Amino acid sequence: MKALGQQYVDEVAAEYQEILNQDGGQHTISDAELERVRANFVPAQRKADAPIAVAAVPAGREQDYARWLQQNVAAHQNPALRAVTLSYKRLGQAPGDADADQLDTAADLADKFSAGELRVTHDQNLLLPWVRSEELPALWLEASHAGLARSNVRLLTDMIACPGGDFCALANARSIPIAAAITERYQDMDELHDLGEIDLHISGCINSCGHHHSGHIGVLGVDKDGKEWYQVSLGGSDGSDLSGEAVAGKVVGPSFGAAEVPGVIEALLDTFRQQRQGRETFIDTLRRVGMDVFKAAANSARLSDKHEELNVLPKSAGYARDAQEA
Ligand code: SF4
Repeated sequence: MKALGQQYVDEVAAEYQEILNQDGGQHTISDAELERVRANFVPAQRKADAPIAVAAVPAGREQDYARWLQQNVAAHQNPALRAVTLSYKRLGQAPGDADADQLDTAADLADKFSAGELRVTHDQNLLLPWVRSEELPALWLEASHAGLARSNVRLLTDMIACPGGDFCALANARSIPIAAAITERYQDMDELHDLGEIDLHISGCINSCGHHHSGHIGVLGVDKDGKEWYQVSLGGSDGSDLSGEAVAGKVVGPSFGAAEVPGVIEALLDTFRQQRQGRETFIDTLRRVGMDVFKAAANSARLSDKHEELNVLPKSAGYARDAQEA
């Protein structure tokens, strides 16, 4: 495309026009068709006799609940309802992972609180789209009990990570141990909330299933000499309200060994805290200050030139099921 330039654009436009001319079919959706499709998306209704689940927030847990409301609960077009995200980002399990029992629990929560409906989000969580606002405390208590109410949605540990080399035959490197090491390091909820909203995306190869290129911080597994290495990029955006116009992140330098990646993330976040003004987000600070300061911080976290040591993966939480939050 780069080589052909405008010629490429003209050829695509000409071919598209030819398709329109040749088959004579309709290539845009008519109003009638739009209405037909729209009729399939009616608001869900809870059973008329479903009792309202009432609960009080236990004394001493008010801050936990307030944080959950702030991060995991979103407004709804119906003011009586809320959309609630169940967080599948917790210590002891890979991002987005759930076993059969945990999915049964999510189904029960959906039946009880969300008209039997839940949705998988692109950032590897489950969303309950039809929750009554007066039932939020009851839902929070039950989700907490199931380990699904961690108030980290849109925060650092709500990272996107692909299955990587542990499960994917195409991978250049493992993603899950990197995610585990970062999750393990950033368990303090005060610290996480202080850091604010940030997109960390990890892919095990250039197929980019973890959307590393659109992360404020992106980590990409690469293969060098048959070993696992990780390219770190900064400043990517997925076009969301938080991130602004969609743009691919820029690589900070030569790739890092697995053992270095958690230190690189920490160095980037420490630099953010030093440079931040007020409650500025990571991406806003990065754009205001520029890449160079952050690049220097990332590169200062290199450990040594000994490849054998650098390729030792960080000590991880091991994903023991009993390590989940209560
Ligand atoms: S990004 Fe690569 S390693 Fe990760 S799931 Fe996709 S194909 Fe597999």
